[in-house]
Amino acid sequence: MNHLGPFKLLPTSRGVCQECAVNHKPHEPHNAQSMFYQYHFYSLWGRWPTWADAMLHCSEEIRRITIEVLAENGISISTEQIADAKKLSNISTKTLT
Ligand SMILES: [Zn+2]
Repeated sequence: MNHLGPFKLLPTSRGVCQECAVNHKPHEPHNAQSMFYQYHFYSLWGRWPTWADAMLHCSEEIRRITIEVLAENGISISTEQIADAKKLSNISTKTLT
């Protein structure tokens, strides 16, 4: 389902992440502040993404490092936020099928 209604995102540039339009490795988190990521996520799930959503696909180690870096920059992410993102992702996936 496209929650953006009649609007559609243009494709990203080649060589960048197709979800956030930022050049990062697949095992690294998406840039939650990327406008492309925000609209891409919203189009899929009908809600705006959080940093927890952006790192949901990452390993526990990458999540831990990302959470530390975000904390150094004044952004706190709790394990509960990660758990909530997982739950919402599962709910949204079930809704889509
Ligand atoms: Zn990305």
